[in-house]
Amino acid sequence: MTPSISSKLPNVGTTIFTVMSALANEHRAINLSQGFPDFAVPKALLDAVDRHLREGHNQYAPMAGLPALRQAIADKTRGLYQVTIDPDTEITVTSGATEAIFDAVTSVVHPGDEVILFDPAYDSYEPAVDLCGGRAIRIPLQPPSFAVDWDRVRDAITPRTRLIMLNTPHNPSGTVWSSRDMDNLAGLVRDTGILVLSDEVYEHILFDGLEHPSVLRHPELSARSFAVFSFGKTYHATGWKLGYCVAPPSMTAEFRKVHQYVTFCTSTPMQHALADFMVSAPEHWQRLPAFYQARRDRFCALLKGSRLRFVPSSGTYFQLVDYSAISDLDDMSYARKLTIESGVAAIPVSVFYKEPPAAKLLRFCFAKDESTLERAAEVLRKL
Ligand code: PMP
Ligand code: GLN
Repeated sequence: MTPSISSKLPNVGTTIFTVMSALANEHRAINLSQGFPDFAVPKALLDAVDRHLREGHNQYAPMAGLPALRQAIADKTRGLYQVTIDPDTEITVTSGATEAIFDAVTSVVHPGDEVILFDPAYDSYEPAVDLCGGRAIRIPLQPPSFAVDWDRVRDAITPRTRLIMLNTPHNPSGTVWSSRDMDNLAGLVRDTGILVLSDEVYEHILFDGLEHPSVLRHPELSARSFAVFSFGKTYHATGWKLGYCVAPPSMTAEFRKVHQYVTFCTSTPMQHALADFMVSAPEHWQRLPAFYQARRDRFCALLKGSRLRFVPSSGTYFQLVDYSAISDLDDMSYARKLTIESGVAAIPVSVFYKEPPAAKLLRFCFAKDESTLERAAEVLRKL
């Protein structure tokens, strides 16, 4: 008899990033779908990895992360967000932000708890909530501003609300929260037991002089928040799968109970190398806003003669475009058509919504070298 499996995630298919990258590869399309940079990892960082591999740093790292790396994170965070965090009790190194999000949700969400998400929501959020027996309450943000309607958030809060998950700079919209949004959130959760998970993986990719309003800058919020970061985005190394979570000691203690049985620890030589590089080359992340703003500006300039309509991104390495002047197809069908017939792959935005808006939107990743962006734009201008 074949065993029957009752799916714990009956409504989940294969993630859109895998689907679109596979389609792009199959059709040799320019892949502006899944978000990953095609820039080289800094040479000094690669040299450090090589050195640590050869020096024999190849066994398990400490469960919470290498002390030198946690110290480097604490020092950087103090300089950036004017906050003192204890590397021993408030920082955990994880296998990417994805693991940190899963650990955070799993450590605090009980069956029947409600978790507020803002749509379009990154696709790993709801499955994590579902696996805990929680219920995702999804608040749709409307294009083109994707601004949060705080009255609606207030109305969504119930005695069962356990967690609110946010993401700024925001994937896929490219919008960013203001410090007033953070104040509004703080006002709503004050005098409640609601926790916050702040996904800040694009903390260094903001444009036009905008400042990242990290929850870590906000004492009231940081006292109840898991703040999640990704080395993959910051060091052009998404395939290394390294990230970290900053949270108060009591929350970190629960977080680590999960982390220790999900992965126990993450790659040792990579952690050594990042610890060295963070200390020796802070200019790397200091230059990221200008580095990515130049790409955004170039990509937007290249799209100018096209029939795609867009508001330039304020953060992340994604640009949304509205293709309604070109096609009536739904976004999934149009993304497939564009990949197969025109040779440029993008991500349809409706997949990140429970109730998608009427707008016809695609997401392009512009973390690509000049010639790739030029080749893609040449195609897009002809649509
Ligand atoms: N959150 C958001 C909003 C992301 O865009 C991503 C990756 N693109 C992640 C989390 C996951 O980060 P990581 O690759 O470090 O797991
Ligand atoms: N977060 C990346 C994106 O938004 C993809 C990550 C993944 O493929 N899992 O495109």
